[in-house]
Amino acid sequence: LFLSFEGIDGSGKSTQARMLAEALRAEGRDVVLTREPGGSPGAEEIRALVLQGDPDRWSAATEILLFTAARRDHLERTIRPALDRGAVVICDRFADSTRMYQGLSRGDLRRTVDDLHALMIGIEPDLTLLIDMDPEVGLSRAKGRQGIEERFEDFGAGLQARMRTGFLDLAREFPARFRVIDGARPEGTVAADVLTAARTALSE
Ligand code: C5P
Repeated sequence: LFLSFEGIDGSGKSTQARMLAEALRAEGRDVVLTREPGGSPGAEEIRALVLQGDPDRWSAATEILLFTAARRDHLERTIRPALDRGAVVICDRFADSTRMYQGLSRGDLRRTVDDLHALMIGIEPDLTLLIDMDPEVGLSRAKGRQGIEERFEDFGAGLQARMRTGFLDLAREFPARFRVIDGARPEGTVAADVLTAARTALSE
């Protein structure tokens, strides 16, 4: 089973992904918790190339190619092998993040993202958990974090608001695999909803 978590910065999706991995491991399941951009040694190197340093280093199109290259490596080295041995793969962000961040933030490049995805990736998660949250809340939570990714967070509340709307639109576009979960509630409450959705997908 292939599960992804999506949401704006500070939505708590990484915490939720970790909690779900722990809960499923406690049931004795083989779980691979991974993330994007990154998730394999090569893809982590590409992550550093894109997220560290000058934000204008890459054009929008080159950035899409880099994210797709990272995803291809992640798929080949981490996701496919895990799915093939029957593990549950939990991925903190996947292609939907590229549809949003690279597809919407620097012009309308969604078509480019989708075309490259069809050509080089071709797989979607069985279940995508969208941890939905007010961007002001998400932003204030993300700002408190140390990290190399400040440049994206510096786009500020305007971009985050567009991303939130974009993710909700995406959930309507792919209703079969998306579950929207209200991330503004206490962590444990959100985690319980996440676990229920994952268990349902596992039993299908
Ligand atoms: O989810 P995580 O905090 O690891 O994401 C790191 C940063 O990279 C975030 O600030 C996010 O906005 C950005 N990002 C991006 N394009 C993606 C995935 C993440 O710009 N496809």
